[in-house]
Amino acid sequence: MAEITQHDIVIIGGGGAGLRAAIAVAETYPDLDVGMVSKVYPMRSHTVSAEGGAAGVIKPGDSLEDHIRDTISGSDWLADQDAVEAFVREAPRELTQLEHWGCPWSREPDGSVAVRPFGGMGIQRTWFAADKTGFHMLHTLFQTSLKYARITRYDEWFASRLLVEDGRCQGVVALELRTGEVRGILGKAVILCTGGFGRIFPFTTNAAIKTGDGLGLAYRAGVPLKDMEFVQYHPTGLPGTGILITEAARGEGGILVNKHGDRYLRHYDLGEPLDLGDPRHPLFRTMELGPRDRLSQAFVHEQELGNVFEAPDGAYVHLDIRHLGEKTIDQKIPFVRELAKNYVGIDPVHQPIPVRPVVHYMMGGIDTDLEAATSLPGLFAAGECACVSINGANRLGSNSLPELLVFGARAGRGAAEWAREHPESSRAALEQQADVEEARIRDFRGGDGGTERIASIRADLQAAMESGCGIYRTEATLRAAAESIAELRERFRSMRLDDHSLAFNTELTGALELDLMIEIAEALVHSALQREESRGSHQRLDFPTRDDERFLKHSLAYRTEGVPRIEHRDVVITRWPPAERVYGRAHEAGAAERGT
Ligand SMILES: Cc1cc2nc3c(=O)[nH]c(=O)nc-3n(C[C@H](O)[C@H](O)[C@H](O)COP(=O)(O)OP(=O)(O)OC[C@H]3O[C@@H](n4cnc5c(N)ncnc54)[C@H](O)[C@@H]3O)c2cc1C
Repeated sequence: MAEITQHDIVIIGGGGAGLRAAIAVAETYPDLDVGMVSKVYPMRSHTVSAEGGAAGVIKPGDSLEDHIRDTISGSDWLADQDAVEAFVREAPRELTQLEHWGCPWSREPDGSVAVRPFGGMGIQRTWFAADKTGFHMLHTLFQTSLKYARITRYDEWFASRLLVEDGRCQGVVALELRTGEVRGILGKAVILCTGGFGRIFPFTTNAAIKTGDGLGLAYRAGVPLKDMEFVQYHPTGLPGTGILITEAARGEGGILVNKHGDRYLRHYDLGEPLDLGDPRHPLFRTMELGPRDRLSQAFVHEQELGNVFEAPDGAYVHLDIRHLGEKTIDQKIPFVRELAKNYVGIDPVHQPIPVRPVVHYMMGGIDTDLEAATSLPGLFAAGECACVSINGANRLGSNSLPELLVFGARAGRGAAEWAREHPESSRAALEQQADVEEARIRDFRGGDGGTERIASIRADLQAAMESGCGIYRTEATLRAAAESIAELRERFRSMRLDDHSLAFNTELTGALELDLMIEIAEALVHSALQREESRGSHQRLDFPTRDDERFLKHSLAYRTEGVPRIEHRDVVITRWPPAERVYGRAHEAGAAERGT
């Protein structure tokens, strides 16, 4: 029988969102105790790898209004405007709070917080800590969380199922990776902070742990997944590994050129570039800082025109930062130099860096409201696994770090309130569910009757996703992907594990992850099939224009016994009516009026 432990609140995930939520609980109601479950040691969560920075209005000449408008326009009007407003208003406070907890934000010579330009942002507002922003943020949150004795950590425990009883989420079942023990970890409220799911694609900047488990758990418990069709490609990944070259490289003035040495973005509609010569000027913005979806699409066009370099690791173009000079590179983006040297063997001080589009961020996720609550009472979600939505059809770079702070804190406070108002219910029923899950995991581990290897099913799933719903999609490619996924689901039933051991059985966790990845992929493909328009990162060659009449709506994918059921919900529009997606010009005018 599975052992049972009880907490007031259980948080799944020890990344930025999970830690922020835990601190919010501890600060709001110090008497509540928190169990924090993470499949990796918290400092290994993907937040650690964020390089570029976190957006928040702080400088004279910038305004909340401008950040809101950039975010809405960047989202191609699919973001909920009330959510964006709440986010933009609370982001500076959260970033300042991190400063007070010890985050070493980079500084201007006068001692004020430095900001850098970022894609799709009409003005400089991205706070950074050199180019290891995520590392410093995560470290700050982690060390702050250590102050609170009532946060109990379950490091290297894998959550595999939500416990739902009396129509409420009341805990999880988790597997301890070190021992193979399966335990029911009960809580009056549960917060999912499990991060994104780039790993359902073959070529991604995302760490191997980003398999989307939390989405799968919520989906299986009946919660819809929202706007899953929107997959962000980042325009500058290193060929082969998919390692990210941060947008800060372009923010600092890096340019993209094709194999003819042509700065090809000038042939594409990316808004009015404004290159004032000095990247530190608050209005500096080049075409390289257009929105990520447009830059990635431009790459595909260049490829079709035969203007890119072809290589065994895939086609690429050049990101040139040589003109910035060694001093600036070492001071502002030292990690870019380190990565380029270590992973492609070139020194960007002297040579351009080969780059290509790479799957980077998922706009979609678990459907939540502004307080991070899901439709399942007692279940909350925040961070990349959630969709509030502030990102709509395309996230602006540097918005997701502040997002996880703002909504992580909201989730913590919301879950704390909920836990105080709702006593635990029948423990016997929860124990029984935990036993059922323990048996399922035992069966997975013991399973050697089948013939299918999880590694090959996973590779085939990733290949189906890339060819079916990459940067450009059509009904035919999406249908082909849907069929492949249905076959993979069948193949998964006859999977076989060679490793039957209890300790650190990575084949077993790989199987548990893959089981959920198949579901998530299916929700994504079917959401994409139903969206017969092109918007932001969702580009349908068979429906090339945005269709506000039919699709100014969120997609909601519900799990059924057959294919997912897709419903739609209106986008919340408050003060910014849908318009063509031009960014920058209006802001420049506004900024000029303000005399900056
Ligand atoms: C290379 C890279 C660079 C980026 N740069 C930037 C940037 O400069 N600016 C910006 O705004 N955004 C950036 N992003 C995006 C941003 O970093 C992420 O969206 C954000 O950090 C996600 O945080 P999170 O807390 O939601 O999830 P994560 O940090 O991914 O944490 C997820 C947590 O969930 C746990 N978990 C998952 N599944 C389970 C399970 N089954 N059981 C138990 N625990 C589980 C993991 O152990 C982990 O602790 C970048 C992303 C990448 C990949």
